[in-house]
Amino acid sequence: MPLEKVGFEDSLKRLVVPELCVGCGSCVAFCPMKCLEYSDGLPRLVGRCTECGICFQVCPSCGPPQEEIERLIFGRERRTEEEFGVYRRVVVAQTTDRRIREVCQDGGLVTSLLTFALEEGLIEGAIVSCVSEEKPLKPVPKLATTVEEIIECAGTRYVYSPNPLAFREALARRVRSLAFVGTPCQIRALRRMEIIPLKRYASALKLLIGLFCSESFTYEGFVVDGIKRKLGVDPKDVKKVNIKGKVLVTTVEGEVEALPIEDAKKYSWNCGRCGDFSAELADISAGGVGLQGWTLTVIRTERGETLLKRAEEKGLIRVRPVEEEPKAYRILVNLSRRKRRRLLRRR
Ligand SMILES: Cc1cc2nc3c(=O)[nH]c(=O)nc-3n(C[C@H](O)[C@H](O)[C@H](O)COP(=O)(O)OP(=O)(O)OC[C@H]3O[C@@H](n4cnc5c(N)ncnc54)[C@H](O)[C@@H]3O)c2cc1C
Repeated sequence: MPLEKVGFEDSLKRLVVPELCVGCGSCVAFCPMKCLEYSDGLPRLVGRCTECGICFQVCPSCGPPQEEIERLIFGRERRTEEEFGVYRRVVVAQTTDRRIREVCQDGGLVTSLLTFALEEGLIEGAIVSCVSEEKPLKPVPKLATTVEEIIECAGTRYVYSPNPLAFREALARRVRSLAFVGTPCQIRALRRMEIIPLKRYASALKLLIGLFCSESFTYEGFVVDGIKRKLGVDPKDVKKVNIKGKVLVTTVEGEVEALPIEDAKKYSWNCGRCGDFSAELADISAGGVGLQGWTLTVIRTERGETLLKRAEEKGLIRVRPVEEEPKAYRILVNLSRRKRRRLLRRR
């Protein structure tokens, strides 16, 4: 794909100023001049920009259209009836590993696939999101290179985590094969990076796992105002946060406090222009809608299919057809439709 020559100052005017920037950190991660830094959820220019155009080209908030990326990744565009993007198969999956079951968000599919890929030597590391040591519930991008580290990072933080930033560390540590876990906007940025292609990163990227995402939240809003002030729960006493119709906060003591979803929506990250609920460009997409203890799993590519089958054959996960969970499937279709329509209305 020919690179449009755009300097960062111009990107700022075209993306950050009109609030199109989602703060994913991809421009910072992939800037070859290392002239960008990430602070307060936004990229900042801190060095000399050579106007190479890469920051603009990897940005998930600008062209090319989704259909063009689909053709390059899947060899075809999404059919109209494929409401949640191009896919091969939809299943529900669950880990058989007790350590993962104790800490995962839904069925532990994501963490199981990562640990399996690492143990089988398919990857040397996984870019995921861990929790800040200083601020409980604050997510921080992380390059995990051991099974223990991957398991420590299981579970969902609903605050936005700019996972692409960890690519810099992966490059510095010469990690040659990587899996990436992230939100739909981040998966889109990485597909754009692959298409350019930025070879040193693209050749290392072996697997893209996308998380379903209605929206993400700010730390000050969701955690400080919502959980701490409104619910009166100290973030360091929180064992798990889950969103199932409302925000359910489980404490280490086992108590469950609920925050209405309408209250949480006030803390929204800059997600209003995203029309992708199910991470439509990932190899495998994962969510928990309509299920308890299982991950709703959309397999989109051959490499995603191969990995899932191998993990199932090894007995690391159990898999059932989605036909056994029609309600979960219906919610996936409805939420995908709703998010796509929201984007079309904003255009
Ligand atoms: C911001 C956000 C919003 C979501 N919204 C929905 C939704 O509306 N509906 C739905 O069905 N599912 C949603 N999910 C996905 C869901 O919460 C689970 O992540 C998914 O079902 C996989 O479950 P699991 O047990 O297989 O994952 P696990 O095995 O628990 O692994 C989860 C992985 O996600 C990574 N992670 C955690 N927090 C973040 C973060 N903030 N950003 C990037 N990576 C992270 C972890 O490091 C880990 O690798 C959302 C996830 C996020 C991060």
